Amino acid sequence: MRKNPQKSPARVRTFAAFLAFFASLLALFCALGCTPRPEAAKETSAAMDTVMTLTVYGGETDALAAAKDRVLELEARLSVTDPDSDVSALNRTGTAVLSPDTAELLSRALELCARTDGALDVTVYPVVRAWGFTTGDYTVPDEDALAALLEKVDYTEVRLEGDTASLPVGAEIDLGAVAKGWTGDELAALLREKGVESALLELGGNIHTVGTKPDGSDWRVAVRDPADGEGYLGVVSVSDKAVVTSGGYERYFERDGVRYWHIMDPATGAPARSGLASVTVVADSGLYADALSTALFVMGREAALDYWRANRDFEAILVSEDGSVTVTGGLEEAFTLSGERPLAVVRA
Ligand code: AMP
Ligand code: MG
Repeated sequence: MRKNPQKSPARVRTFAAFLAFFASLLALFCALGCTPRPEAAKETSAAMDTVMTLTVYGGETDALAAAKDRVLELEARLSVTDPDSDVSALNRTGTAVLSPDTAELLSRALELCARTDGALDVTVYPVVRAWGFTTGDYTVPDEDALAALLEKVDYTEVRLEGDTASLPVGAEIDLGAVAKGWTGDELAALLREKGVESALLELGGNIHTVGTKPDGSDWRVAVRDPADGEGYLGVVSVSDKAVVTSGGYERYFERDGVRYWHIMDPATGAPARSGLASVTVVADSGLYADALSTALFVMGREAALDYWRANRDFEAILVSEDGSVTVTGGLEEAFTLSGERPLAVVRA
């Protein structure tokens, strides 16, 4: 005889509990996975002497167009090679009324020149030009010519009162070491105002991240290997940060087997030979990261680490010319080296 197929009340309860559990799991998965992801809007253009790619998720529909317009506006004011820019007007005449944007950036750049004790110096431009880095017409200037130009290199001589700037006779400025970083800050602020909570702004070697990736995970930013034009050194995981690299590989020429690059030591008027091949700075502010990536490159490894110890408001990846890598303690978890090479973590 068949057994009564009716289930016992206890089994029914277990089955009902299982069904309820399964239903709640399904609801949870749907809440996480079925929420529509914001669409990506992406644009690549040539600006500020580099390739810029802006990828924006969500926010108002005009957010990306507004960001692009802002880049063009800032470029028109800050470019040292555009004869109509504020910077060119100042360099040409020695005194100029600047737009509020240029005045703000110059003011903040001068503070950073002071904070880095002149390793960053916005008045290094005549020297940069003498080496041909503004035109691509490269040359190794003779020592007398450099010595004469170096006399004009001194950021403490730049006067800025309100929006009016003036320079000593023969001095010229270039905001190229900080302009892209500051532009990243400006774009991030503009996008947030327009409701964007997630964006990746690639401004040449400057990466600016807004929020996290749309799925809530960190952005993974590749750091270039300075010894290999195509390859990368590792990956740094960040959200809401700027990741800015200055490297000798970005712009250089070779004469008689010597490589000369575009980052100058304002103390010597020659390309900075500090033993570093690249410096990547991770900070909340793009301006700060950009200023520091240039300045720490000039300072060299030991002085750069001393600067980090004294300030502790940024993190850095220092790649030496011998290929060894040093990272500051705050990046110990966030930075992953891609190959085998010496890595030192400095914690204090
Ligand atoms: P970055 O790529 O941010 O390191 O900036 C390098 C650019 O800034 C160069 O192409 C020069 O135009 C300019 N520059 C080079 N050396 C210095 C320096 N020590 N201080 C300020 N600007 C510099
Ligand atoms: Mg810089």
